[in-house]
Amino acid sequence: MIKKILIANRGEIAVRIIRACKEMGIESVAVYSTADEMALHKELATEAVCIGGAKSEDSYLNMENIISAACLTGCDAIHPGFGFLSENPHFARMVEMCGLKFIGPNPAVMELMGNKSQAIQVVEETGVPTVPGSHGAIKNREEGKKIAKEIGYPILIKASAGGGGKGIRLVENEEDFVGHYKEAKEEAKKYFANSELYIEKYIENPKHVEVQVMCDKFGNCIHLYERDCSLQRRKQKLLEEAPCQSISKELKEKLYDSAIKICKKVGYDSVGTVEFIIDKKENFYFIEMNTRVQVEHPITEMITNVDIIKNMIKIAYGMKLSIRQEDVKIIGHAIECRINAEDIRQDFRPCPGKITFMHVPGGKGVRIDSAVYPGYTIPPYYDSLLLKLIAYAPTRLECIRKMRAALEELIIEGVSTTTEFEYLILHNPTFIMGNYDTGSIEDFIKELDKNGKSIQ
Ligand code: ADP
Repeated sequence: MIKKILIANRGEIAVRIIRACKEMGIESVAVYSTADEMALHKELATEAVCIGGAKSEDSYLNMENIISAACLTGCDAIHPGFGFLSENPHFARMVEMCGLKFIGPNPAVMELMGNKSQAIQVVEETGVPTVPGSHGAIKNREEGKKIAKEIGYPILIKASAGGGGKGIRLVENEEDFVGHYKEAKEEAKKYFANSELYIEKYIENPKHVEVQVMCDKFGNCIHLYERDCSLQRRKQKLLEEAPCQSISKELKEKLYDSAIKICKKVGYDSVGTVEFIIDKKENFYFIEMNTRVQVEHPITEMITNVDIIKNMIKIAYGMKLSIRQEDVKIIGHAIECRINAEDIRQDFRPCPGKITFMHVPGGKGVRIDSAVYPGYTIPPYYDSLLLKLIAYAPTRLECIRKMRAALEELIIEGVSTTTEFEYLILHNPTFIMGNYDTGSIEDFIKELDKNGKSIQ
């Protein structure tokens, strides 16, 4: 019934989706830019089509070229992966108008949840807590200033269409509001083509915990538990673990119930993630929903033994969920380290170039989702994620030890990577205790600097 899928992405996620297709007996079509002639996803797919120039706008964001490639190769669906066009409802609609399936949620729900201030308003109707703030987009500067004063500084100005940790500004006091507002508005317009802004109270170093959900087109909706994604540098996740070590069972239940409630309210019909922040008193707040597969999905796959990508494909083809909530159990613990081509001693500056030598770890419970190989030249045009190293073990402590051993074995020469930084985190007492929050990485970097082990 499912014949051929085009993967509108590159890098490790494209490889991940191609693997799922192979296991399901589905043919795959890779698309690639002129800068990706040597990319692994191009080699692994059944077929590959060049869709344009190196710049993302010319290739991986070029909707017409991607859809033409799908039609010309006889595909019946398009999987968008993450980033690029994965949360673009216009693209999803175009795909469907061309008689193809879009492997993701229906475009209406994607549009609704993609606008973050609108999503907050809908979530509020369900009774799930949201961060004190403007409860939707602000009309103008004066309204924003008034709300900020009411909720009390510090506050965040966020772009409704923002994402990937971008489009968020911290305002510490009233004097700074006008300047930040103006810049935020200009930036939002420039980067997200939508200048709409909203305001949230700044929660001091919260935890970031997210719930993986999986819903079909028949109103069935389950969760696959949570991931702790609090280890972030400048709002970019570095290391994730599942399950979360440091919040109560009662709070976890509340997060699961809230995630399901939200999905049911909006008619969600794919895999997705509901993100929450949690303050020191275990108050939790919805912040946003990601209507796509996430980078960190493998840790959930490891602890639940559910293949998220295969299920996502089946759901898009109109199949009912084959697992019930009571069948999904957590067994063991998983950690993911994102290995980026970045120079940790130069403010994590991207470091493209040629991988001259590479050795990857293995063994029971070690998983690598990668798109690189020895001799591969990392192009400078895209994100710096090289591979995801995932460790899985019966307990958290065993998992930490396994990840340390795996990082010791991982060798990538020719480019700087974040491997060493991840290794340092795995030895940090705050991390080992599981008691970390979104401020921990900055503290950790400061500590290393103070001890003369400068990382910047
Ligand atoms: P994006 O869509 O760009 O990922 P999010 O709204 O998910 O933006 O926020 C990204 C990160 O910013 C969160 O993981 C959290 O660390 C931090 N953050 C978001 N909202 C708040 C808030 N109200 N207070 C404190 N930190 C926040």
